[in-house]
Amino acid sequence: MAQKIINPQDLAFQLYELHEVEKTLGYERYADHSRDTLQAALDLALKVASEEFAPHARLVDEEEPRFENGRVVMRPEVGKALDVLKGTGLMAASQDYERGGMQLPAAVAQMCVGLLKGANVGTQGYAGLTIAAANLIMVQGSEEQQKRYAEPMMAGRFFGTMCLTEPHSGSSLGDLRTRAEPQSDGSYRLFGNKIFISAGDHELSDNIIHMVLARLPDAPPGVRGISLFLVPKILLNADGSLGERNDVALAGLIHKMGYRGTTSTMLNFGEKDGAVGYLVGEPNNGLAAMFHMMNEARIGVGLGSVMLGYTGYLHALEYARERKQGRPIGDKNPESPQVPLIRHGDIRRMLMAQKAYVEGGLALCLEGSMLVDQKKHADTEHDRELAAGLLDLLTPLIKSWPSRYCLEANSLAIQIHGGYGYTREYPVEQFYRDNRLNPIHEGTHGIQGMDLLGRKVAMAGGRFYEELMNRIETTIGEARHYDRLAEAANRLQQAARAMASATETINGVKAGGEVEKALANATLYLDAFGQMVVGWLWLRQAIKALEGLAGAGSQTAEFYEGKVRACDYFARYELPYVVSTADLLKTMDTTALDMRDDLF
Ligand SMILES: Cc1cc2nc3c(=O)[nH]c(=O)nc-3n(C[C@H](O)[C@H](O)[C@H](O)COP(=O)(O)OP(=O)(O)OC[C@H]3O[C@@H](n4cnc5c(N)ncnc54)[C@H](O)[C@@H]3O)c2cc1C
Repeated sequence: MAQKIINPQDLAFQLYELHEVEKTLGYERYADHSRDTLQAALDLALKVASEEFAPHARLVDEEEPRFENGRVVMRPEVGKALDVLKGTGLMAASQDYERGGMQLPAAVAQMCVGLLKGANVGTQGYAGLTIAAANLIMVQGSEEQQKRYAEPMMAGRFFGTMCLTEPHSGSSLGDLRTRAEPQSDGSYRLFGNKIFISAGDHELSDNIIHMVLARLPDAPPGVRGISLFLVPKILLNADGSLGERNDVALAGLIHKMGYRGTTSTMLNFGEKDGAVGYLVGEPNNGLAAMFHMMNEARIGVGLGSVMLGYTGYLHALEYARERKQGRPIGDKNPESPQVPLIRHGDIRRMLMAQKAYVEGGLALCLEGSMLVDQKKHADTEHDRELAAGLLDLLTPLIKSWPSRYCLEANSLAIQIHGGYGYTREYPVEQFYRDNRLNPIHEGTHGIQGMDLLGRKVAMAGGRFYEELMNRIETTIGEARHYDRLAEAANRLQQAARAMASATETINGVKAGGEVEKALANATLYLDAFGQMVVGWLWLRQAIKALEGLAGAGSQTAEFYEGKVRACDYFARYELPYVVSTADLLKTMDTTALDMRDDLF
């Protein structure tokens, strides 16, 4: 099954039948494409993922990059795989033709990257950060910055980073201290220390372009005083050739639990005269500029989490079919042959949970990618605005739901392997370690909860939240045409009503000024809201599967039947959590908030 990275039938079903990605070909931007060209890009990405990325995923985990004599030393397979990737043009998959890009729809472009993440998240990290940083320059940078820096990044000659975090300023970015001093030639000199910077130093590319958040002199305090700068590791001459080394120093590497193939660095800007940097966008608008790209970057985090969960699931499935252990309940004959693990009810339950999480998570991420295109290219202003609002609302869920539930899928994959899963002989423990990063970076799980409940649900007077709830109701109505989906539809309706009621109560408390109390259980709200949305996407998958079984699709009958059963599983085993959590949230309980420091 495609090197156990993804089930190709599921990918085809989700892209072409569930999300109808071919509809994007109606947008002028994608007019040159056909299903064949979209599929060719995906096939190419899967080939590179299977043949170049997957084979050394274990090696870079065991032999992580080292800091020797001021240089980063790493396994040669990393550079070789990235060179192959550069040659495919996939690093510019979503960019304009005239910039050397492929102009692929967002869902396909992101899926291409997702396949690489499923194969080897460490090596993919260098490419992923470069794509994100180049996108940022393409949206926020000047024409000159785009030509000099973003184009070589899209071609893979330069790589990129995102430098936000400082030792005392992680979630609380408003407290960052790196300062940027204006120079007479219009450039800036930067001074400060950044920590946890992924891909911050290496020798995989000719240059590294750091996108750095810093403060101008006299900038207002907090998030309103942050600006965005482009700081090359090596300065460029006027003709674009490489010049002098900039004042950016690698202070050390950080050694991590997972994601070991990607260097994590501490960078010092301005140990000497200051690191030369160039302002990107407007002064004091740096955080907004950075976050402009965050919606897409966060879909990338969610998708990365899904793909790690997905590969773990496929490994567990294969193991459960091969490993023989025990006999069916009721078979008392000790001489009868042992049966494969998959014959046992508890193993099937764990496989079902993984399937529900990873295929549900994939549907969620692709829903976000489709909104990215609708936001930019839908025919009417109204539809573009609606898509932008829905994407804003769903972004914390797209980042967080897979980070929690696809990590749980990785834990279940270890469980299915028993003691062998806990050893380094099998890859499932690495998938878990790699995936454990995702609830932490790009805004922690807790911060996403506060974003959803504190801002997103109420934005625009709750208009986009209402739109989402209406869409859920519409799907429930459609599902009622099928007797087989009656129970799932009822359960989703109960979940949606419970969430609506809890939301109304919490909004009332917030409006009354008790904001801390209202947000005290924001993480529970995030998890329950995510379960409701994924339950909605499972019901949509089941409707499409029943249509497929009736002859409308191109997958096998077993595949469609499996989808309907996974929807039943999600409705029966997962959606009750939404109802019970919503009931708790509605009580506005403050047990944890009221617990005093000295009582722990
Ligand atoms: C492997 C790795 C790669 C990374 N890559 C990059 C990168 O490339 N670039 C970059 O800039 N950064 C990067 N980071 C940094 C990452 O984004 C931060 O670790 C993250 O933002 C959290 O910041 P922190 O570690 O300082 O934790 P803290 O902010 O100290 O948070 C600790 C805990 O407190 C909670 N918390 C914090 N504030 C609040 C609050 N107000 N209310 C409630 N709870 C709160 C958090 O949710 C968390 O659970 C990376 C981190 C890691 C581990």
